[in-house]
Amino acid sequence: MSLLAVGSVAMDTIETPFGRVDNVLGGSATYIATAASYFVAPIRLVGVVGGDFPREYIDFLESREIDLEGLQVVKSGKTFRWGGRYQYDLNTRETLFTELNVFEHFNPIIPPAFRKSTYICLGNIDPEVQRKVLEQIEKPRLVVGDTMNFWIKGKKKELLATLKRMDIVIINDAEARQLTEEANLIKAAKAIIRMGPKMIIIKKGEHGALLVTERTIFSAPAYPLEIINDPTGAGDAFAGGFIGWIAKTDDLSEENCKRAVIHGSALASFCVEQFSLNRLKDLTSIEIQDRFREFRELSKFDAEVLV
Ligand code: AMP
Repeated sequence: MSLLAVGSVAMDTIETPFGRVDNVLGGSATYIATAASYFVAPIRLVGVVGGDFPREYIDFLESREIDLEGLQVVKSGKTFRWGGRYQYDLNTRETLFTELNVFEHFNPIIPPAFRKSTYICLGNIDPEVQRKVLEQIEKPRLVVGDTMNFWIKGKKKELLATLKRMDIVIINDAEARQLTEEANLIKAAKAIIRMGPKMIIIKKGEHGALLVTERTIFSAPAYPLEIINDPTGAGDAFAGGFIGWIAKTDDLSEENCKRAVIHGSALASFCVEQFSLNRLKDLTSIEIQDRFREFRELSKFDAEVLV
């Protein structure tokens, strides 16, 4: 099975109540590919960076067996930069700056070897770039996509066109409300289903995730962590864990999608423990399996006893 991730590759500046980091490795494609790399290898990454992108970040991605043939390096340009600040409520964040830089004129060119990829994860990025990527892929088995407030506000028309081509949308609660102008999340999910995708997963930060189809609602808890340093990338780590599990098992049944939601939640829970990708650097498969089992324990109860 082959998995292609497209999205931003970034240098992030992040402030949380627990610290501050400058120009650390970030970006939606980076988090997706790293999280998914725990399930399938190699992950194919499509994105762009500038001449200032540190060699050690490339080395890190390569160490996770991420195939960088689709990563364009624009020597004369600057890498995409994003700054965000979190207060004690880590569910809400303030964007301090978004410098698109080399992403402003990014024309994704999918290397011939990547065009037959089976699983596609469209990370948060300009919806027009997402569409251009899909146009170059031959018959993918599954297209999963994400987006964010920046694009809902700035490129809604383009986003609605790209949404039609996604099978599964992964989006956070505030963005689902913003996209549909619907306060109730279930109604918002159903409104997004009417926009094209067959399944939608709404991420609710520390309150878990909801999987919604025409017929089903599945609710997954978030892992109750005591130490969260940096929520950045949780949504993308979720998407990477989700599609990584689906690609590894090659099973698109609804039951397997529920297992994929738990794997996504597990990867997201590791992600937020430390700044940037530090916790996602060297997880073991035992750690991931243990956390998957802990998720089962979290919401297991004896339903036999009636009051
Ligand atoms: P998440 O916390 O999962 O929503 O994703 C955080 C990552 O998204 C950060 O590492 C940023 O570099 C990246 N990011 C922030 N804004 C944008 C944007 N407008 N387009 C693409 N990527 C972005």
